[in-house]
Amino acid sequence: MAEVGGKEETKEVEIPDTVPVLPVRDIVIFPYMILPLFVGRDISIKAIDHALNTNRMVLLLAQKDLNVETPAVDDLYLMGTVCMIMRMLKLPDGRVKILVQGLNKARVSGFTQQEPFFMADIEKVSEEKPAETSIENEALIRNVKEQMDKVVGLGKTVLPDVMVVIENIEDPGRLADLVTANLGLKTDQAQEILEMSDPVRRLKRVGEILSREVQLLTIQQKIQTEARGEIDKTQREYFLREQLKAIQRELGDIDERAEEAREFKKKIEDAKMPEKVMKEAEKQLKRIEKMHPDSAEAGTIRTYLEWLTEIPWSKGTKDQLDIQKAEKVLNDDHYDLEKVKERILEYLSVRKLKEKMKGPILCFIGPPGVGKTSLGRSIARALGREFVRMSLGGVRDEAEIRGHRRTYVGALPGRIIQGIKQAGTNNPVFMLDEIDKIGSDFRGDPSSALLEVLDPEQNNSFSDHYLAVPFDLSNVMFITTGNLADTIPGPLRDRMEILYLSGYTEEEKLHIAKKYLVPKQLDEHGISTKILQIGESAVRQIISQYTREAGVRNLEREIANLCRKVAKLVAEGKTGTFVMTGKNVHKYLGVPKFLPEEEMKVNEVGVATGLAWTEAGGDVIYVEATMMKGKGNLTLTGQLGDVMKESAQAALSYIKSRAAELGLSEDTFSGIDLHIHVPAGAIPKDGPSAGITMGTSIASALTGRAVRKDVAMTGEVTLRGRVLPIGGLKEKALAAKRMGIKTVIIPRRNKKDLDDLPKYVKEGMTFVVVDTMDEVLKNALVAKRAAKAGAPKRKSSGKNDRKAIKTGATLRSTKRSKVTHATPADRRIKASRRNKKKV
Ligand code: ADP
Repeated sequence: MAEVGGKEETKEVEIPDTVPVLPVRDIVIFPYMILPLFVGRDISIKAIDHALNTNRMVLLLAQKDLNVETPAVDDLYLMGTVCMIMRMLKLPDGRVKILVQGLNKARVSGFTQQEPFFMADIEKVSEEKPAETSIENEALIRNVKEQMDKVVGLGKTVLPDVMVVIENIEDPGRLADLVTANLGLKTDQAQEILEMSDPVRRLKRVGEILSREVQLLTIQQKIQTEARGEIDKTQREYFLREQLKAIQRELGDIDERAEEAREFKKKIEDAKMPEKVMKEAEKQLKRIEKMHPDSAEAGTIRTYLEWLTEIPWSKGTKDQLDIQKAEKVLNDDHYDLEKVKERILEYLSVRKLKEKMKGPILCFIGPPGVGKTSLGRSIARALGREFVRMSLGGVRDEAEIRGHRRTYVGALPGRIIQGIKQAGTNNPVFMLDEIDKIGSDFRGDPSSALLEVLDPEQNNSFSDHYLAVPFDLSNVMFITTGNLADTIPGPLRDRMEILYLSGYTEEEKLHIAKKYLVPKQLDEHGISTKILQIGESAVRQIISQYTREAGVRNLEREIANLCRKVAKLVAEGKTGTFVMTGKNVHKYLGVPKFLPEEEMKVNEVGVATGLAWTEAGGDVIYVEATMMKGKGNLTLTGQLGDVMKESAQAALSYIKSRAAELGLSEDTFSGIDLHIHVPAGAIPKDGPSAGITMGTSIASALTGRAVRKDVAMTGEVTLRGRVLPIGGLKEKALAAKRMGIKTVIIPRRNKKDLDDLPKYVKEGMTFVVVDTMDEVLKNALVAKRAAKAGAPKRKSSGKNDRKAIKTGATLRSTKRSKVTHATPADRRIKASRRNKKKV
């Protein structure tokens, strides 16, 4: 470190014109400085020796490049400081330590010798006289001193003695030199200062360098503080946590927590999760370890970890793909349903050949109680897979499928992941019920989430919002079910293969009851056939008087009801065998819920029998028309939809246009009001296919001719009396059959659908194919004006009989089956409101 000599007499020393040169590295010496130097280079030692032998003076020249070991003339700056060697010490290693004091700046005018050491002719460079100590100078001096203080304040090491000297210097040149010598500048920068002979300019330059230094140091300090802050924080936390642990150890709950962590660790290992999920689980476990065990967040994470570890990430059953066995299982569990079974077996066969099948999703469509769910169960049983079932009815929120994000209070995974957890394996048969009742509103569109679930291209990384890690659903076998196909959102329907299951006839129900339902219910109630025998007549009675349905769900329920009643009697101590027959079932089941069909078979004026298509299968509806004095108004009641109302108008207009042919006078209409009512008022009804039924009831009411009760009809009517085709013929025909109706009037364009009807439905039924409303009236109305009641014997005209197709005899019968892959749906029936009767 440079020190200050600063004695006045140094100025008086005579400096010779030629002096030995001492090249120095990495340092620039200013006048008045005293500093020690270690000298090792030969060339330098020789110069020192020479100086010591003469006037002890050397010129110290800074070397431009400190790496040059043996400098030439060009490697040295030409301006330096002449110094006096004050002391010299030879060190044992051959080096020399000298103490020098700067005397005066000097410039080399020429080198007189380069070997064995440099000698140079010099010109003394004297300090320019500073201008009068102006205010500016003073400000400059003060500024540099302040900056120097700052620099020291920011951590630069400068000896306190030096600081005292700096404090007291009033000469700008010496101040500049001293500051420069103590700042540890680079050689070229220090040399630049040295070469300035104007002290004020020099000080200004030093001021600039200082302010840059202040900036640099400030930033440096900031960085350091931040880094230290970070370290402090972690250290603090560490200490606190250690303290907490100590407290917990003291309180005894550390063991519990450690135990919990251990348990989770084991669960995570056991769950055999994919790498990514495992990482997430471990991350969450670490988090929970750091938290207070009773905090709300720890609770949330715990639930999450439980979910993560309980999901069957890699647990699956091995498929048994024995097609013969599968066929046996399906047959054991279900009566008939040949086509569906066949399709299922095909599906399983393909699966056998190609493990990762990206085939379509099966979708069973049909009324309730026809065996959709139990088919799904059988498939699972045949494959040896788990079976889970989830209803989508009323699901409007996407989050129900995909779950809520964990940030929500009480968030849980969506139904899909819940189902998987419930199944306990990653490849169950997963049945999604009521896919036709999925809704969408502002809470998002669940069907698009469902698309991702069902799409084999995407579902190998299904992301549930709650889990936030993907789950592979591609091994799951999804089966969907619903009552109607046309309310299933289009994109979903595209991915599915729809298999239709229509309802059963009485005979089939009888079979199903005898072979499946009765044994099943007896078994479930722990009743043997020695205690209860349910005869065929009893079952028939239940079918016709206690149930009115396409499927067999209520039938099964009533059989269960019988079993319960008998079980109670047995529990009460009654013994013997209970034999159920058609005569005594009502004792157990109570008053019949439905009237026997015969009682309703009376021809009436103004009441026509129509056929409706509901999601519970087909149904029979009665359209009533009556007229009264009035002004030609038409009233429609019975919760009719717009399409149906318009259809009634059209039917009326057509009847008006045929007034003459029907034997009505022109002014019949102006003096009356007509009222059409479709009973079962609570059920909304819509669709155009009641057109001909309404037309018939109007014509009947106006003409007074009764409508044949044994004739049911379905068809849309146009203004000009043409009869247009309708949808759901199969369901409608089944409903007619259930009600014991023998003749059904259908539009000609539905004739082709008759091929799809199973033989047993067509048996004993006559389908009358018509083109016009006139033909409908001819077939449906009793020939003459008749009394309001009574069933007159009527012979149908030969012409119409020719149009009637005696089924079974003339129609090519198709193999008995209840499945078609495409219902001849009436495309114009767009009314898709649920629970509607489509008529
Ligand atoms: P869905 O799911 O179509 O509403 P389910 O599968 O729940 O109907 O069927 C109701 C009951 O009827 C079940 O006990 C089922 O076993 C029985 N069932 C339905 N169709 C048949 C059939 N073809 N053979 C045997 N049992 C049947």
